[in-house]
Amino acid sequence: MTRFIFITGGVVSSLGKGLASAALGALLQARGFKVRLRKLDPYINVDPGTMSPYQHGEVYVTDDGAETDLDLGHYERFTGVASRQSDNVTTGRIYSDVIARERRGDYLGATIQVIPHITDAIKEFAQADVQDEDFILCEIGGTVGDIESLPFLEAIRQMRNELGIERTMFLHLTLVPYIPAAGELKTKPTQHSVKELQNVGIQPDILMCRADREIPHSERRKIALFCNVREERVIPGLDADTIYRVPLNLHEAGLDAQVCDFFGLETPNPDVSTWKEIVQRVISPEGEVTIAIVGKYTELKDAYKSLDEALTHGGIANNVKVNLEWMNAEIFEADDEDAVVQRLEGVHGILVPGGFGERGTEGKIRAVRFAREHNVPFFGICLGMQMAVVEAARNLAGIKGAGSTEFGPWDDPVVGLMTEWIAEGVTHRRDEESDKGGTMRLGAYECRVRPDTEVHRIYGADVIFERHRHRYEVNVSYKDALESAGLLFSGMSPDGILPEIVEFPGHVWFVGVQFHPELLSKPFNPHPLFISFIEAAVAQSRLV
Ligand code: GLN
Repeated sequence: MTRFIFITGGVVSSLGKGLASAALGALLQARGFKVRLRKLDPYINVDPGTMSPYQHGEVYVTDDGAETDLDLGHYERFTGVASRQSDNVTTGRIYSDVIARERRGDYLGATIQVIPHITDAIKEFAQADVQDEDFILCEIGGTVGDIESLPFLEAIRQMRNELGIERTMFLHLTLVPYIPAAGELKTKPTQHSVKELQNVGIQPDILMCRADREIPHSERRKIALFCNVREERVIPGLDADTIYRVPLNLHEAGLDAQVCDFFGLETPNPDVSTWKEIVQRVISPEGEVTIAIVGKYTELKDAYKSLDEALTHGGIANNVKVNLEWMNAEIFEADDEDAVVQRLEGVHGILVPGGFGERGTEGKIRAVRFAREHNVPFFGICLGMQMAVVEAARNLAGIKGAGSTEFGPWDDPVVGLMTEWIAEGVTHRRDEESDKGGTMRLGAYECRVRPDTEVHRIYGADVIFERHRHRYEVNVSYKDALESAGLLFSGMSPDGILPEIVEFPGHVWFVGVQFHPELLSKPFNPHPLFISFIEAAVAQSRLV
C-alpha cells in the first residue's frame, strides 16, 4: 500500500522544505521502506528549464531528460533514488495538459474549471507512475497563503478524503523566530500559518518548526495546543552545521518515529550510521584544499547547488575540507597576465562550470589557459569543457578564429549548434528557430571511454552514462587537429560523432566533460571524477 506524505511550508520561503523532505525520505528508507519524492511547483513555467539561475537556482536534470527543480537534487543525494520526469510538475504543465485535452475534445460539453479539472489533473499527477513504493513524499512548492498554491492545497485536501487518513499525512513546516528584544522564541507566526492551512480545510498532522535554537518545552506545548497537533508531533527542526546532519537531527527529534506511529507502522529503530560517518568526515577533515570556481552566477550559490555538493563529496572521499572560491569570470577579462596569475596562483584546482551566454567566456578561456600552462588541476564542465577546447584550438592548434557559435559567427566554429542527434533510436532535429524550452540534449546518454586514458582509469569502465543539458557541442571535424596539438578526446558518443570528454595527457589533472557529473554524486557514493579531481588538488596543495 502506497502512503502519501504531503509537505507544505508556511511563514516564509527558504525554510529548507526540500532538505527536510529529502531527510525524511532517507530516514524512512533506513527503516526499510521504499520511497519516492516528488515536487509540485505552483509557478506557471512548464518547467524551470527556461528560468535564469538567478530566479530559481540550478536546473536539475533527471536521467529521463526532465529539467526540474533543484530540490530533486536533494532528494537524489539523500535517498539515491533516481528521479524521473513524473516527479516534478508545475502549474504550467498542469494547465497546458488540461488545455490540450480540452482542445482535443476530451471534456466535450463541459466548462473547464479549477475545481474539478485542474485539481483532478494535480491528483492524477501526484499518483502517477507509482509502483511498489511504500511512501510518496510530495512537497508543495511555495508558501501557504500564496494565491498560486491554492489549487494544489485543494487537491491534497481532496486526496485525504479519497484515500483516507490511513494513507495520507500532512506535514507542515514553519518558522519559530527568535526576537532578540524580547529574548524569546515566538510561536505566533506558526499559529497563523496553521490557521491559513485550516482555512483551506487542511489540518496538519505533524508540524516541523524551524528555529535557530532549542524550542523550550513550554513553547512546543503552546504550539500543540493552538495548532491542534499532538505535542510529540511538534518536531523542532534546528539549524545544522552541515546539511548531512539534518537526517540525524530529525531522527533524534522523533520525526520518523512519529510518521510510523501516525500510520500504525512498527519497524526496528533505523540504522543511521552512514549519516553519522558522513557528518564526521565533513566536520573533522584532515586537511583542506581551495578550488576556484570561475563561472557566471557566482553570487548565488543555489545556481551551482549540485556542483557545490559534489565538491563536498570529493572532499569527503579524500578526508579534506574543500574551500570554494567563487570568481566571476568577467573579472579575468580586464586583467593583464600578472593579475590572472595573482588571482589564481594560490588555488589547488580550477573549475569552470556549465553556463549559458557569452558574458564572461573570454575570462573563462583565460582561466583555462592559466590552469593548462601552470599545471594546476583543471575540471571543465559542459560550457567549461567547450571553453577548454576553444582555448586549446586558439593557443595550441593555431586555430586563431576558434569560438562557439553560441556567441556569434566564427571563422572556426569548433563548438557549434547541435542540429541532429539520436536518443534511444529517435533522431532529434533542431535549428536556430527551434523553441527554447525542453529542446536541449537532455538526460542520460551513453559515452564510450577510450582505453589507456586518465578518465578510463578514473571510471574503471569502458561505457558510462552521464546526464546532459546543452545545445552546443564540440565539432568533431576539429578532432584530428586538436589531437595533434595534444588534446586527447577520451570519451565519445557511441556513434563517434559527439565528443564527450577531453583530457591533456601529461598535465597533472585536466579533464573536460560535456555532461554534468555533479548531478550523479552522492555523499555516500561520491562521483569518481570529483574524487579524482580533489585527490589531484590535495597533491597540488602539497606543492604550493
Ligand atoms: N551553453 C552551452 C550549451 O548550450 C553549455 C551548456 C551548459 O553548460 N549546461 O551547449
